[in-house]
Amino acid sequence: MSNPTIELENRYCAHNYHPLPVVLVRGEGAYVWDDQGNRYLDMMSAYSAVSHGHAHPRLVRKLVEQAGTLSIVSRAFHTDKLAPFLKRACELAGMDVALPMNTGAEAVETAMKAARKWAYTVKGVADDQAEIIACHGNFHGRTIAIVGLSSELQYRQGFGPFPAGLELIPFGDADALEQAITPNTAAFLVEPIQGEGGIVIPPEGYLARCREICRRNDVLLICDEVQTGLGRTGKLFAFQHDGISPDGLILGKALGGGILPVSMFLARREVMDVFRPGDHGSTFGGNPLAAAIGLEALHILVEEDLAAGSAEKGAWLLERLRRINSDLIREVRGRGLFIGIEIESSRASAREVCERLMKRGLLSKETHETVVRLAPPLAVDRQALAWAADQIESVLEEIEAVRQAS
Ligand code: PMP
Repeated sequence: MSNPTIELENRYCAHNYHPLPVVLVRGEGAYVWDDQGNRYLDMMSAYSAVSHGHAHPRLVRKLVEQAGTLSIVSRAFHTDKLAPFLKRACELAGMDVALPMNTGAEAVETAMKAARKWAYTVKGVADDQAEIIACHGNFHGRTIAIVGLSSELQYRQGFGPFPAGLELIPFGDADALEQAITPNTAAFLVEPIQGEGGIVIPPEGYLARCREICRRNDVLLICDEVQTGLGRTGKLFAFQHDGISPDGLILGKALGGGILPVSMFLARREVMDVFRPGDHGSTFGGNPLAAAIGLEALHILVEEDLAAGSAEKGAWLLERLRRINSDLIREVRGRGLFIGIEIESSRASAREVCERLMKRGLLSKETHETVVRLAPPLAVDRQALAWAADQIESVLEEIEAVRQAS
């Protein structure tokens, strides 16, 4: 079925994505509407960026108010909006100091630069020898340094050469971390739950063990919570499930309230103090419009207790999905409203499941061909989730029926 809007996009937009064939024109709360007026439950939330729901009235009000007051001046000057935003983020995360950026990848790059400079200036690693350890199956973004850390062939192929000093170990294996650490190791960069990797949950206590290993070896533990942070997994930060505190924390996505790209790297003072004026920066990072939206997004998160809602509704949905009796499901896993359904790859593709769900008014997106990701806005109501689970059950039955008939 041809759609002129999609054809136009195909002609003028780089083909670096493979979107589902739907043209969205409006969003409100947990729902979006297409150009034909059809409504969809958004179980994708822009890769978890829309945790607050679409067009949250408080955020829209704040956006208009601040845009009419002061939007961008760069960090060449102080503004009245930046400090309150960073202060609140630091208080919530238990960190000392923050460096504002825009996208997740920029904040990850910031963390990598901080870790390297910390290794040279504080830990005493010899020039150009610092190493950063990350995990197989990670997703930290798309810059050249970051894809240099990826284990995904497609993310790397054609984009080398990559920076030196980047090492990979299996995710969820604390012993592997212990073995991989050398005197030159600056940091261990890890997602508490791997999101793009397919909602992969490490063994109980993994992060706590990593915390202890890093501390003992004078290595920074840096958690990339661009996706898991800000209530997504049922706590404000996923590292809180393990009762630990990292040395550095990367936030993005939902920090912009589903309205603007807002990210930051937060750290202990000793780590952030390696940056001197001119070492690092971004024209747009920390602009007053982003800071005003970011602060309001944090207020909403706390006042609406979105993390608790995510924990409670996520547990319910996980349980409901696990009761689906289908040969097409290999595993249902998740924490909070961050759930993956792993499809038996010999029987169906996650893409097919997503396409059929779309026809029923439920938007999701496959990750890694085999996993259907479910990450709705955190204020989604229980009825909508019950309806979503029914649609998923029906789609799986539908696919089984088609397979049996053919
Ligand atoms: N880190 C993680 C854990 C992510 O999931 C993502 C995006 N999916 C990023 C970093 C990169 O964020 P961005 O796309 O905003 O650069």
